[in-house]
Amino acid sequence: MNYLVFKSLHIISVVTWFAGLFYMPRLFVYFAEAENKLPAEKKILQDQFKIMQRRLWLGITWPSAIAVLIFGSSLLSNFWPITHYPWLMMKLMFVVGLYAYHLFLHKIFKQQQINKIQFSPMSLRVINEISTIFLIAIVFLVVLKNVLSMIYGLVGLFILIAILMSAIRTYKNFREQKELTVTNKKPDNNNNEDWKAKLSNEEFKILRMCGTERPFEGKYYSFFEPGIYACAGCGHELFTSETKYDSGSGWPAFYDVIDTKNVRLIEDKSLGMKRVEVRCAHCDSHLGHVFEDGPKPTGLRYCINSICLKHLNP
Ligand code: FE
Repeated sequence: MNYLVFKSLHIISVVTWFAGLFYMPRLFVYFAEAENKLPAEKKILQDQFKIMQRRLWLGITWPSAIAVLIFGSSLLSNFWPITHYPWLMMKLMFVVGLYAYHLFLHKIFKQQQINKIQFSPMSLRVINEISTIFLIAIVFLVVLKNVLSMIYGLVGLFILIAILMSAIRTYKNFREQKELTVTNKKPDNNNNEDWKAKLSNEEFKILRMCGTERPFEGKYYSFFEPGIYACAGCGHELFTSETKYDSGSGWPAFYDVIDTKNVRLIEDKSLGMKRVEVRCAHCDSHLGHVFEDGPKPTGLRYCINSICLKHLNP
């Protein structure tokens, strides 16, 4: 009876331990990815991830790891001498490996808590999969109780690793296409003739040649009707009236975008200043610049030319 009770407790603590081991590296990935965001956004995200990491690691994962050790050890007397159970010896080797992995994650946890980033998001994604491999190896050993089957199991495991690695790589490529980061790459506007035909001279100068309209002259700087602001070049929805505010600069200001994927941020060193240019992610039209002197909650000020926007009623 006692054996079954301890076995149940052992399985419960294994499940919660693995939950922590699976989710913790995800939080490491998110933390490392936030490194590429604008400073204000980066700080909000990383502070939040650090809180989540502490709760998950110290509140669930560590206690579970200790419970596995206690309940697991209490079951060992039923398998004595242990040399009669080769599958169990092998399982224990994997468990030792899993504790080593746990301590390795603890090291990353300590680093990220003091804002040190040692591994790239890509490396952390690979690290994230290590617990999957341990889980498969341990479950197969416990269920089959046969070391020979492990050989087939290991072959399967290597195939699985290959599949996981290629899936991570594919996902990385997919993310790179979508991810919003500040870059210094300026795309070619090689279809200028089409744009000239579509836009007025003034629109062309600002949207396609990165010009700036004069302050206090645009149609939206003192316009606060509810609705959506779309790109004047392509109609892609960029901002809402809910995040629009009067910055006093003479240009429309927003403290947030509808979705960060809708804009592209480009490092702009023109006019002897270091600024961040905002472009439409869809048609690559210039919209304005983003500054870090905006109101809460983002602390950002998207300073956008009126002429680059088209107000749509809700
Ligand atoms: Fe656009």
